[in-house]
Amino acid sequence: MAESRPPANPTPVTTTDAGIPAPSDEHSLSVGPDGPLLLQDHYLIQKMAQFNRERVPERVVHAKGGGAHGHFEVTADVTPYTKAAFLSEVGKRTDVFVRFSTVAGELGSADTVRDPRGFAVKFYTDEGNYDLVGNNTPIFFVRDPSKFSDFIHSQKRRADTHLRDNNMQWDFWTLSPESAHQVLILMSDRGTPRSWRHMNGYGSHTFMWVNAAGERFWVKYHFKTEQGIDTFTDDEAKARVSVDPDLHIRDLASSIRDGDFPVWRLEIQIMPFAEAATYRFNPFDLTKVWPHADYPPITIGRMVLDRNPDDYFTEVEQASFEPANMVPGIGPSPDKMLLGRLFSYPDTHRYRIGPNYLQLPINRPKVPVHSYNKDGAMRYGPSSDPVYAPNSYDGPKADTIRYGEEAVWEADGEFVRTAYTLRRDDDDFGQAGTLYRDVMSDTDRDHLVTNIVGHASQDVQVDVQRRVVEYWRQVDPDLGARVGKGLGVG
Ligand code: NDP
Repeated sequence: MAESRPPANPTPVTTTDAGIPAPSDEHSLSVGPDGPLLLQDHYLIQKMAQFNRERVPERVVHAKGGGAHGHFEVTADVTPYTKAAFLSEVGKRTDVFVRFSTVAGELGSADTVRDPRGFAVKFYTDEGNYDLVGNNTPIFFVRDPSKFSDFIHSQKRRADTHLRDNNMQWDFWTLSPESAHQVLILMSDRGTPRSWRHMNGYGSHTFMWVNAAGERFWVKYHFKTEQGIDTFTDDEAKARVSVDPDLHIRDLASSIRDGDFPVWRLEIQIMPFAEAATYRFNPFDLTKVWPHADYPPITIGRMVLDRNPDDYFTEVEQASFEPANMVPGIGPSPDKMLLGRLFSYPDTHRYRIGPNYLQLPINRPKVPVHSYNKDGAMRYGPSSDPVYAPNSYDGPKADTIRYGEEAVWEADGEFVRTAYTLRRDDDDFGQAGTLYRDVMSDTDRDHLVTNIVGHASQDVQVDVQRRVVEYWRQVDPDLGARVGKGLGVG
């Protein structure tokens, strides 16, 4: 006997983007079967014109990525340190969207190449969106935003051949000794994570927290993977490039689809406000971590990703993260890189997506917006009168008592263009040396040397190779000697 099946949903009728039933899925309008096409075929013209406009400019950095939805849950009381509403009580949950990415490659580049990984979290909080736009490393290559575009140029493509070029990468790095700590991690197997699920995420910068009493603290964030750190060797990562260039997108999507939801616990390090002034090195320098012995990590929350995007373009490609999105109770620090990024992220989104990017579903807050901004390309949310402040017509009013500027610090001095003031333990190589000698295993060190030698052997000029050896010698004499031997230069 035939099984009785529920009636199938009726197949929807194809329409134009204006919702008008389309005349055909396959044939354009022509004069006779063999004749010329007609300009009045609005449906054909709409299809072709829309297709030509399918791309927005790809991100200049972090172009290739993937993401997922989930939630963050508070697991420890942090109200002594911050009044941020989404952190106000144990058990409180906030929706998040997270985007992972490579940095230097283009939109179609392979996921497993050696690169830092972006780890950007958007918290849809009760007081607006909070974006923590970090990486899978706790530090960065440079400490002044004026070097950022130069750094990225050196990692991308040459002007003449349009080729990536290891020579220019090592040229820039060895002339920028502050990069050594980050290059060490990049050249270790952590530079080739097995998946996005198997890596940590770090806020990297120092931020300020302010509690309800107005007391200020400095804070660092570390998302620690509960899946465990797992990496590819250089050979394994390179082999995956041809087998599955989209491995990391596929891995995240399939694990979530199968109910194996990735989890990270959030740890913070807290530094009392006054200690920053006298700490043995500049705690706002993005090329340095705060040693755990000085500022022990405290676990405060748990992040779970449990829902894949329905539409890659509208949820991942148009997702716009900006470190400037900070909610009451959280603020910036004197980290010059952070201060530069506060400008550059919203600026790139205005260019890439348009001035009303914050109205798109993935970017808009889950709380009402009452701003006096209006109009601009592709705006669709309502603006209402009065459209100016101050006004006498019951328009929104800033609550300066409750939300006035609190995340502040004192500064004075002449205008200068100079590095941070050096302190007792400020140097470019010390923390990298500690990682190499005291944290890495013998296997980590062996792979590191192999990876550096392999990378610096390809198209790198001998004078630059000599600097490569000296760069690593300053991190650790043994490391320099091993790299020198591998490259065959003294
Ligand atoms: P700890 O021994 O307390 O911490 C070492 C940290 O290194 C751990 O967080 C560990 O975290 C991480 N780690 C372990 N293996 C590697 C690796 N192969 N590559 C990169 N990171 C690794 O020492 P300290 O806090 O005094 O830091 C010592 C050095 O460790 C620092 O100079 C820095 O280079 C590195 N480090 C320090 C971090 C910090 O915030 N203090 C964070 C990350 C690295 P996990 O295995 O969970 O990733």
